[in-house]
Amino acid sequence: MTRPLIELENVSRYYGSGNTEVRALDGVSLSISPGEFVAIVGQSGSGKSTLMNILGCLDRPTGGVYHVRGKDIAELDADALATMRRETFGFIFQRYNLLTSVSASENVEIPAVYAGLTLQERREKAAELLDKLGLGDRVSHKPGQLSGGQQQRVAVARALINDAEVILADEPTGALDSGSSDELLNLLEEFHATGRTIILITHDPKVAARARRVIELKDGKIISDTGRPSAASAPTETYRYSRKTPSPFAQVVEAIKMAFRSLRANPFRTALTLLGVIIGVSAVVAMLAIGQGSQKEVMARFESMGANLLFVRPGAPGTRMRGDAIATLTLADAEALNELGNVLAAVPSRSGSATMRVGNNDYRGSVEGTTEAWPLAQNRGLKYGTFFTADDVDRRVGVVVLGTTTAGNLFDNVQGAVGQYVFLGGAPFEVAGILEEKGATSWGQDQDDIALVPITTGMMRLFGQNYLSSITIAADDTDRISETEAEATDLLLARHGSEDFQLRNTASILESVEETQNSFSILLGSVAAISLLVGGIGVMNIMLVSVTERTREIGVRMATGARRSDIMIQFVVEALVVGGLGGIAGVLIGLSVCFILSYSGMTVAVTAMPAILAFTSALATGLVFGLLPARQASRLDPVTALASE
Ligand code: ADP
Ligand code: MG
Repeated sequence: MTRPLIELENVSRYYGSGNTEVRALDGVSLSISPGEFVAIVGQSGSGKSTLMNILGCLDRPTGGVYHVRGKDIAELDADALATMRRETFGFIFQRYNLLTSVSASENVEIPAVYAGLTLQERREKAAELLDKLGLGDRVSHKPGQLSGGQQQRVAVARALINDAEVILADEPTGALDSGSSDELLNLLEEFHATGRTIILITHDPKVAARARRVIELKDGKIISDTGRPSAASAPTETYRYSRKTPSPFAQVVEAIKMAFRSLRANPFRTALTLLGVIIGVSAVVAMLAIGQGSQKEVMARFESMGANLLFVRPGAPGTRMRGDAIATLTLADAEALNELGNVLAAVPSRSGSATMRVGNNDYRGSVEGTTEAWPLAQNRGLKYGTFFTADDVDRRVGVVVLGTTTAGNLFDNVQGAVGQYVFLGGAPFEVAGILEEKGATSWGQDQDDIALVPITTGMMRLFGQNYLSSITIAADDTDRISETEAEATDLLLARHGSEDFQLRNTASILESVEETQNSFSILLGSVAAISLLVGGIGVMNIMLVSVTERTREIGVRMATGARRSDIMIQFVVEALVVGGLGGIAGVLIGLSVCFILSYSGMTVAVTAMPAILAFTSALATGLVFGLLPARQASRLDPVTALASE
């Protein structure tokens, strides 16, 4: 005798508890051998569907033991149950339970997706089955375009595609006319003849009469069983099942396709969901480009100063008095600093203003006393003529180098000014050269409104005092600048006895500018991130709606062998597809905004980083906000899911 395929021992299934407890199955013991054709009959409410759900591993018994091929079902986890369903059972439901949005062929293929068949294999097998069931010319029709009998035959093909050993049919003829009903029963008999086990639930005695064995249920108990069939009615063949292992890659590809299909099914809603992500992503791209653009612009202005400079100003750190009014720095300090290692030049400076006169032309402008090293420290050359020399400084010669603004105010011909005399504070100064133009600083000071004189001459004739406004130190090796800064500080401390000066470097000034700029970028970035978050909440909202709407689809997928992880992957992939599409569109729109802004004169720095960052965030948003709905979908109970409207 063959080992029983299915064995129930004292199995019960109770719903609810206490007063409302319903004993849908109450101590059922039953065994079914391979190749049997069994009808389970009974009045409505007698527990037939409950029994079928337990037999098909969609539901677990409350009590008792259930073995399939000798394996105790109680020991299997959700995934193992899914595998058991996929490899053993093919379900035919009274209400067909086809997915309305996909074709007949695609409906038939669903269980094969989870069994790991390739698209090609699935297509061929589905076509073959549908052809055999007389639907060869309906493969690409949607369920809505098929009659009830045709739909049920599609469902039969779906039950058969994985070569299930056991076909479980719950009132499959319930919604069919008698012609279609006869056809379906003939089909079931054919499959029985090929060695399959058929378990048919019905309340129609005519239908039950086609089975070899009839089991009658009443109030959750078996009240009659015609018993095992005689050898004569046994199937002519023994059933063989061929197994395959599903490939995760193919499953993800399938999930992506399904995702696009379900997004297409609701284009308006999809567009609105995408819009949320698109706005977020394009905001990130555009805001960061604007922030970086303004940072770049400001940095560029400061960087022209050179990174090798140190600035010494008189007055203790924190003093707010104007540098010129504090008498602590001297020419001797500058000379001492000049002797330090790694110092190209320590350039002293005394600034003030004076009235300049050429003929009848009077002009009051800024005058700065400095040394021959000024062009080196300022990184600024001459337009015409030459700069004054070290010798001019030593000998307190009356020479002057003019900026173009000053020269323009004093002379009709700027180039012709070289060699002419300017009266400064009543004394004649010969014009040695004209500085190259520099324009205005970012705070609006005209850098060409300047007259440079040897500091020694200036102190004697113009400024009326011997203290410096500043010393600019140009370092030789920028890498050693902090070392030089420390040495200069020590030197000045030693000379002055107290910290009555301030020393800063370009890098530290740049740093503080950069800090301000960064907080500006962070502000813009957070505004953008918030809109992306809002987009993400939109994705989650729509995914939750989608899970609710598609509960029955999830049930069908689970009944036909989808594991929890398959359902999870499907919904996560859908959310990722929304995030990805929104990300791509958002990046494109964000970049277009940048180009429009830069075209209209704004400095925007378009780099790959924000685009990559925003796209990745969109994907991550899809993932994070898709996880909860996906988890919710995968946790659905197959029986409840199938029963939902
Ligand atoms: P049949 O399929 O024979 O018509 P069912 O197996 O569907 O009967 O139901 C058997 C009994 O269990 C019925 O009394 C029904 O009301 C009850 N029942 C079925 N499903 C549930 C459920 N989810 N919760 C509570 N009671 C249920
Ligand atoms: Mg029922």
